Amino acid sequence: MSKPHTASAPVEPAPASNFLRSIIDADIASQKYANRTDTAGQALPQVITRFPPEPNGYLHIGHAKSICLNFGLARDYQGRTHLRFDDTNPAKEEQEYVDTILDSVQWLGFSWTQDGVAHLHYASDYFERLYAMAEYLITAGHAYVDSQSADDMAANRGNFNQPGKDSPFRNRPAAESLAMFRRMKAGEFADGAHILRARIDMASPNMNLRDPAIYRIRHAHHHRTGDAWCIYPMYDYTHPISDALENITHSICTLEFQDHRPFYDWILERMAEGGFFAKPLPHQYEFARLNMTYVVTSKRKLRELVEEHIVDGWDDPRMPTLVGMRRRGFTPEAIQLFCERTGVTKSDSWIDIATLDGCLREDLDPKAPRATAVLRPLKLVIDNFPADEVIDCHAPVHPQFPERGNRTVPISATLWIEQDDFMEVPSKGYFRLFPGNKVRLRYGFVIECTGCDKDADGNVIAVHCNYFADSKSGTEGSANYKVKGNIHWLSVAHALEAEVRLYDRLFTDPQPDAGGKDFKLALNPNAKEVVTAFVEPGLATARPDDKFQFERHGYFVADRVDASATRLVFNRITTLKDSWAK
Ligand code: ATP
Ligand code: MG
Repeated sequence: MSKPHTASAPVEPAPASNFLRSIIDADIASQKYANRTDTAGQALPQVITRFPPEPNGYLHIGHAKSICLNFGLARDYQGRTHLRFDDTNPAKEEQEYVDTILDSVQWLGFSWTQDGVAHLHYASDYFERLYAMAEYLITAGHAYVDSQSADDMAANRGNFNQPGKDSPFRNRPAAESLAMFRRMKAGEFADGAHILRARIDMASPNMNLRDPAIYRIRHAHHHRTGDAWCIYPMYDYTHPISDALENITHSICTLEFQDHRPFYDWILERMAEGGFFAKPLPHQYEFARLNMTYVVTSKRKLRELVEEHIVDGWDDPRMPTLVGMRRRGFTPEAIQLFCERTGVTKSDSWIDIATLDGCLREDLDPKAPRATAVLRPLKLVIDNFPADEVIDCHAPVHPQFPERGNRTVPISATLWIEQDDFMEVPSKGYFRLFPGNKVRLRYGFVIECTGCDKDADGNVIAVHCNYFADSKSGTEGSANYKVKGNIHWLSVAHALEAEVRLYDRLFTDPQPDAGGKDFKLALNPNAKEVVTAFVEPGLATARPDDKFQFERHGYFVADRVDASATRLVFNRITTLKDSWAK
């Protein structure tokens, strides 16, 4: 894994204000979290956020939103952000996911290390303390071991219209619950035989307060604690306590956790009473999750795409995972810009994927060197060009930045051009190559089309033309030629063969999984097209991750290839313009 680097500077000068910034401003003004110290007596910043992924999959663009938000707020308020793995569910979690998450957060441009201290945590590191606090809750009469069957427990929970019913075990004496809880920990019971529940209110209109589960029995191997535990704490119990142990101030999550906040507060209040934590306590805030058109961002659904081989792995360039987007050629800067620009709100909405592509083009346009690629090659023969002659033509590396110099592209008698730059019978308004018409070979000469060769089926296999030797771009004579069309080309003898993967949106439906729809019915069959193309000779030195604008085609990134590969591979990042816009 690469070394952590420091958080990059804000991508936009003045971050737009939002309700979270207003809350933080007010907390700073009232000194709510001022004058705190950690257990070692070190002063604590007034803003400490956390990003708490569950290591059960790869991070996606929705997580990027949360990462940019949490790390961005801490950066702008001189605070810090903890990266915490919420690893309380042993069955679904793996080291592979921990590694990729660490890597993706760093790639996005953020670091959990500050002043040499790594604020990298695992909820599983708190298992001992979480257990001790659960014993306290039992002793103080705030929790009990319930031995109802799972069915009875579900039936007695009631529903939105009906209050729940107390469990017959609800008034079990604390000493008995404590003894049972210890036996649960000792492994004396099977999965599901008993459960530890908070004693709150079975009639609460908030279902989350109807004696929620705190600990369950789970005889499962954990990727970090091995077989040390056979009881595991529930997410809703673990989260507030982890936040408090880490002195988190603003615990930011998505809207679906709004109804969980009363339990979050309940747990922390009980623990403060028990002397485990001092006030002020962390506070949970909710914001609207990122929904983007033409994308699904549920880990479960993304896993389905991978496991059913609908895509070529988690890092398939069509995937909205950060590893996939990286391979597609997205830059961290473009993703940061997108997250900043789409803002933070309290009501759900859908962001148009075109916004993301726009941020990408905005970031790539000034950076990407220009290059020529012919994606659907057709031969062009310049009949009056001296047979063995090669003439160097010069094209700017970047038209807006002449100081970046020129690239050299050789021209000869036989060229590759794009198939759609020739029409034997031109349609109305077509001003590229057709018999009798003149066009400029970009950065080269003006040519006049004289005809074409066809195979037995009538397909055009070569186009013929003559060139004007005094028309070379950059020479005086070039001014004498006025032509409408300007096409790109490569010398057949000099061009390099390349595999080019033309990626597009993975779905044809803007909301592929909305309202419980089967997202797999909306797959775009044209989301990946592989063509054998030609690129200019200078690209021989392209390294994986190098990005280019192939003129007239869009932005492309060199893909990694194995050592035995005989040709270059490029992935299309995005087209020059939004090809889906009406
Ligand atoms: P999924 O639903 O895909 O499984 P998750 O929310 O369960 O995702 P976690 O690993 O628990 O995944 O998420 C870590 C953090 O990322 C959480 O704080 C969560 O709120 C946030 N997050 C996940 N998806 C989005 C999203 N679409 N927009 C904003 N934040 C998100
Ligand atoms: Mg989750």
